[in-house]
Amino acid sequence: MAKKQNQKTCSFCGRSMPEMFSGEGDALICSECIEAGHRMVAAMPKSIGGEEDGLTLANLPTPQAIKDFLDLYVIGQDEAKRYLSVAVYNHYKRVLQEISNDDVEIEKSNILLVGSTGTGKTLLARTIAKMLKVPFAIGDATSLTQAGYVGEDVETLLVRLLQDTNYDVKKAQRGIVFIDEIDKIARKSENPSITRDVSGEGVQQSLLKMLEGSIINVPPQGGRKHPEQECIPVDTKNILFICGGAFDGIERKISQRMNTQAVGFAAQEQAAQVDRDNLLQYIAPQDLKSYGLIPEIIGRLPVLTYLQPLNREALRNILTEPKNALTKQYKKLLGMDNVTLSFADDALDYIVDKALEYKLGARGLRGLMEAVMTDLMFELPNHKQTGKQQSFTVTKEYAERKLSREKLVRLKNAG
Ligand code: ADP
Repeated sequence: MAKKQNQKTCSFCGRSMPEMFSGEGDALICSECIEAGHRMVAAMPKSIGGEEDGLTLANLPTPQAIKDFLDLYVIGQDEAKRYLSVAVYNHYKRVLQEISNDDVEIEKSNILLVGSTGTGKTLLARTIAKMLKVPFAIGDATSLTQAGYVGEDVETLLVRLLQDTNYDVKKAQRGIVFIDEIDKIARKSENPSITRDVSGEGVQQSLLKMLEGSIINVPPQGGRKHPEQECIPVDTKNILFICGGAFDGIERKISQRMNTQAVGFAAQEQAAQVDRDNLLQYIAPQDLKSYGLIPEIIGRLPVLTYLQPLNREALRNILTEPKNALTKQYKKLLGMDNVTLSFADDALDYIVDKALEYKLGARGLRGLMEAVMTDLMFELPNHKQTGKQQSFTVTKEYAERKLSREKLVRLKNAG
């Protein structure tokens, strides 16, 4: 920038100042405006990434806003949503405040979601990533093995994150990784084994560094590291890890712990209030240890919460309430063929009954709806050339006809 003395007025404040500067055009700026501009830029909240995703401390959604967004897509699971919203909010506050130079260090708040399969764990994690527009990757702990053994190395979890950002390492470094079935790598007994436990404890050990935050060398194409392959260093310090697992049978551990803790009269009173039908709500880190997670892993997943099994009402709501509920999707699809589609209440009740009877859960609702809708989606578009608006109501009788016993058994076996 050239310095021009004794020039006219500052193009910004309009004053005539002794020292004036000019850039490429005709505009002039005085030294006071330069300083003011510098102060404004320095005070601007730091963006998580480049300009493009623009998540800043100022526009970071509050926990309430995060939960409100989750409510649009995920039915129920209030407790998990609250925990998750706070943890995610704190995580990104931590990521965004890095420029501060006081010595209070905010620790990482990785999350563990415990709940039966198909209750919305992946959906919650995915929805958060969608809201924040950060990269997202899903991995399955069961496919991982300790380095050097047959199976995938833990680094493959990061390969997927890199792929999601088209290998933009900076972006990937502030993404979210969901690791499913973390319970499947629990060691088989609570006591550390003398023999190596390749698929259990060994994998837990391999995951430690990544969860806690360190530079991991990731083979760019996934798979095994080869000496000739140039690895991409990825810093996991600001990556949020959300782990999920069903932890089948952990209720027994919870109950055992609660029984041993319950001593004395006050404890007896407390025990009387325990909701024995849903012990998962009392889950504590000790139970995870009894189940076979090593204490170091538990320590790196400090936010622990649970998901409720989905009851009839929740399944019924899943069909109609979420922003992209299945019934809304079919209405939209057929709407494009000039068909106004509706569903009778008892038809939806019937579909939910079958999901419960055949233990298909929320995941099975999609298959059931497809079975009901496929013939319609095949036939109704034939009339679209007439240009006339048609309407069709899926009645209970229609749904009954389409969901023959054989079809239901097939859906059950496929699940
Ligand atoms: P999990 O990870 O707990 O095994 P998912 O999140 O993958 O389960 O759920 C499977 C599917 O079931 C989701 O894609 C969604 O369609 C549906 N689903 C499950 N739980 C819910 C919920 N609480 N609200 C809305 N849909 C749900």
